[in-house]
Order: sequence, then C-alpha cells, then structure tokens
Amino acid sequence: MSTPHTIPLAVLVDWLHRFRDAVVEKRDWLTELDSAIGDADHGANMARGMTAAVEKVEQTTPAAADELFKTVGMTLVSTVGGASGPLYGTLFLRIGASLGPVTEVEPAALAAGLHAGLEGVVARGKAEAGDKTLFDAIAPALDALDAALAEGRSAAEATAAAATAAAAGRDATIDLVARKGRASYLGERSAGHMDPGSASATLLFDTLAAAVAG
Ligand code: ADP
Ligand code: MG
Repeated sequence: MSTPHTIPLAVLVDWLHRFRDAVVEKRDWLTELDSAIGDADHGANMARGMTAAVEKVEQTTPAAADELFKTVGMTLVSTVGGASGPLYGTLFLRIGASLGPVTEVEPAALAAGLHAGLEGVVARGKAEAGDKTLFDAIAPALDALDAALAEGRSAAEATAAAATAAAAGRDATIDLVARKGRASYLGERSAGHMDPGSASATLLFDTLAAAVAG
C-alpha cells in the first residue's frame, strides 16, 4: 500500500534528470575546484557521465527502481575514467540493488538504499570521515535524513535536511588535509580548498530534495 509519503519511480527519474542538469550547469565550478587540488576534470567527468546515463535511461525507460539505478551506475562506470566514475557508479548500483524491482519507495527504503550506496563507495575507495572526499558530504546527509525520518518528518522535509547537512559537510572539507584520491598527493597544501567530490555530492542531495518536493 502506498502512503502519502511514498516516492514514485517518476520522482526518482526526475531526481536523476535534475542531477544531470545540475552537474552540467556547475561543470565549470566543479572543474575549477578540481584544478586547485586535482587534475581539473571533475566537472567534465560528472557532466559527461550523467549526460550519458540519462540518455541511456531515456532510451531504455527502466520499469523499476533497480533497473533505473543499475542503468545509471553501469553507464557512469563505463563512461567516466576518473575516480568519480567507479565511485558514483557503485553508489547508484548499490542503491538499485537495495531498492529492488519496485515502482515506488517509502522514504525509509530510500534512506536504506542511500546507506547501501555509501557502503559501496567505502568498499571501493576506503574513505573515512575527514579524508576530504565525497564521503564527507554524503555521511552527514544520511545522518540528517535518518534523524528527520525518525522524528516523523515528511520525505520533503527529511531530504531538505539532508541537503543542508551535505552542504555543511562540503564546506567543512575546505579546512581538511586530503587523505584519499589525487588531492592527497598535495599533502598539507590540499587544505584551504573545497573537495570537488563533496561539491558534486551536495548537488546530488539538493536535486533529491527538489525532486521529492516536486
Ligand atoms: P580523479 O580524481 O580521478 O581525477 P574526479 O576528479 O572526477 O576523479 O573526482 C575526484 C573526487 O573523487 C574527489 O574530489 C573526491 O571527492 C573523490 N574521491 C577520490 N578518491 C576517493 C576515495 N578513495 N574515496 C571516496 N572519494 C574519493
Ligand atoms: Mg579529477
């Protein structure tokens, strides 16, 4: 039985379209962030990967959440050469596997899917809190999502709280010294710059909140 807070497949598809639009719109900013502590390709990687992923979704029109996220994850892994391709690819693949062949999801199931996704990111990249990676935006976002849902808040309120927490986590990466990825090669010199992956991950939660709010 669906409840008033159930999230239909169309909203999940809308989320992915919005995320594609956001990384395309913010491509230059993401690349600028990556030029300070990486190799200046994060914007291009995310824009190319999500453009290809959404095209694939439009061509294949997945009938359920598992297929939808599998299509996106596989496309990111195969079209993005940088670290972010396999990491975001794994995130989406694990979300799909966790949600299963459903056409609507309860907010708690979406939260469980996102947790599974983050576990996949950690399994692949071994990031821990404070390593100055996309983990530092996603983990606090999920803590805020869980807390809001536990308080009985709506999916719209809970995803908005997650987006706010992601942004705070992203901003907190500025002072951190990178311990994973290319930026870690800079050592102490990586401090003073925002992590590009935490910036794109914040867009992921901004667009989730926007899609859920409708
Ligand atoms: P590359 O570093 O290969 O050029 P991108 O520039 O597209 O790939 O992505 C860089 C982002 O990937 C970083 O800002 C960081 O957030 C994330 N990242 C890199 N390595 C890891 C890791 N081991 N675990 C989690 N995130 C990582
Ligand atoms: Mg890069």
